[in-house]
Amino acid sequence: LFVVFEGGEGAGKSTQLAALADRLRGQGRDVVVTREPGATAVGERIRALVLETEGAEAPSPRAEALLYAADRAHHVATVVRPALVRGAVVISDRYVDSSLAYQGAGRTLPAEEVSWLSSWATGGLKPDLVVLLDVDPRTGLGRVESRSQGADRLEAESIAFHERVRYAFLDLAAADPKRYLVLDAARPAEEIAAAVARRVEELLVD
Ligand code: C5P
Repeated sequence: LFVVFEGGEGAGKSTQLAALADRLRGQGRDVVVTREPGATAVGERIRALVLETEGAEAPSPRAEALLYAADRAHHVATVVRPALVRGAVVISDRYVDSSLAYQGAGRTLPAEEVSWLSSWATGGLKPDLVVLLDVDPRTGLGRVESRSQGADRLEAESIAFHERVRYAFLDLAAADPKRYLVLDAARPAEEIAAAVARRVEELLVD
């Protein structure tokens, strides 16, 4: 089973991802927790290239899209597919929808092109479930600013950028409701965790 958590900055993905992983491990399941970008040695270097360069040094939008696609191609080939093949539950912090939202809607690259690039990179691997933690960018960015890491980079993007990202995620979910669980990230963490667990356990029974 392949489960992906998506959402804007400060949506609480890491907390929810850890809660789900703990719960499933407690049931004795083989669980692989992973993330994009940066789950592998290659990915860590790509993550640094994309996220630690600023201003004139930052990759151009198409270069950025290719770097995320390269990270994803390597991540799927070396982490996600092998784990799925042995029957593990794979839980990833971000996947293709982040590219559609950030590189597509955020950086205004054509959605079909980003989509094509992603399916080439992944060989067409789709998640069984995408948990979208929906957050108003003003609330989410406020949460991130209180942790210092990355705050400067995020401030460089406008609220309008983060709103495009948010609505791109919501549109993707609306277009394929069976594959998505959309939750309001402002709800108490325990309620969110319970809703996620319910849905994942349904999928594991099928
Ligand atoms: O989820 P996490 O905080 O690790 O994501 C790091 C950053 O990478 C996010 O702030 C997001 O802006 C960026 N990102 C992106 N495009 C992707 C994946 C992540 O711009 N495809």
